[in-house]
Amino acid sequence: MTDRDECRNLSCSNEPRGGGGFSGRFCSTPCELKYEHVRADARQAERDARRQARQEDGL
Ligand SMILES: [Zn+2]
Repeated sequence: MTDRDECRNLSCSNEPRGGGGFSGRFCSTPCELKYEHVRADARQAERDARRQARQEDGL
């Protein structure tokens, strides 16, 4: 857990504005969407790796 006063998008260091349409601590909607997209990608990659491992085990 970090308590930095920055946008939660790791590649962005702007000040978060909060409120408005942002559910978290992002400086802008594009940053929020990008962050969600990265998280979704990571989840998908993990699922793919698990499925592949299972196939190699012959299950
Ligand atoms: Zn940002």
